[in-house]
Amino acid sequence: MGSITVITGGSRGIGAATARRLARAGHDIAFGYRRDHDAAAAVLADVRAAGRRGLALPADTTDPDQVAALFDAAADLGQLTGLVNNAGITSPIGPFVDLDPDDLRRVVDVNLIGYVRCAQHAARRMGTGAAIVNVSSAAATLGSPGEYVHYAAVKAATDTLTIGLAKELAPRGIRVNAVAPGIIRTDIHAVSGVPDRADSAAGRVPLGRAGEADEVAGAIAWLLGPDASYTTGAVLRVAGGL
Ligand code: NAP
Repeated sequence: MGSITVITGGSRGIGAATARRLARAGHDIAFGYRRDHDAAAAVLADVRAAGRRGLALPADTTDPDQVAALFDAAADLGQLTGLVNNAGITSPIGPFVDLDPDDLRRVVDVNLIGYVRCAQHAARRMGTGAAIVNVSSAAATLGSPGEYVHYAAVKAATDTLTIGLAKELAPRGIRVNAVAPGIIRTDIHAVSGVPDRADSAAGRVPLGRAGEADEVAGAIAWLLGPDASYTTGAVLRVAGGL
């Protein structure tokens, strides 16, 4: 049976690197994104250049109909074997007391409710041997003081979602794990208001540098693959020692 994997937020950053890497590893890919059509088209072209089937749909994970359409489209490729719950956002870096409730709601909506919604679709469709990887963050255990404590708290919820879902789906032979990236060089930091954060925060990282999206994609690919057949409920830190 071939591997058919849905990736949320596959147009840029970690999701795009994961789509490209999984395609090279033999997965057919269905990915969603929000609005960057050109970036999505470039990733899709690379998936197809790797010799795999691919499709890309605008699928905002806060929109139940768009998410359902993504999973329906993926079903046309065959039975779903993988989900990478990746689409995530931060909000502007700043002190906790200044947190705007609308920013909090948006972070919960995308990073938690969106993940739950996609995991539900996947779990309904998956059979034995399938796997889910949730993209969490090292923030979940660091707490991100002075930056975005609310984002860190929601990522901690992702870790708990991973542990609970791993246990609930294990009897069906479905594995559920998470990766917890540290500071990775992507566009996400621009939304936080610190576009050069990958370099400016590198001094905090024991390995002395930010990570690259493909270094996270490698961990995701391993967790989805047969070498991780006895690994479930794990949160794999990919954070340069943070
Ligand atoms: P990114 O470069 O900003 O890319 C985000 C991707 O998600 C884009 O493809 C974007 O689509 C999509 N997206 C955003 N909101 C969406 C929504 N509501 N519905 C569907 N797609 C949506 O982000 P990234 O750095 O790769 O982050 C990916 C994940 O890693 C997130 O869960 C993030 O919290 C986590 N993470 C990142 C870091 C880091 O340092 N970069 C560290 C720890 C954890 P468009 O292109 O259409 O906007």
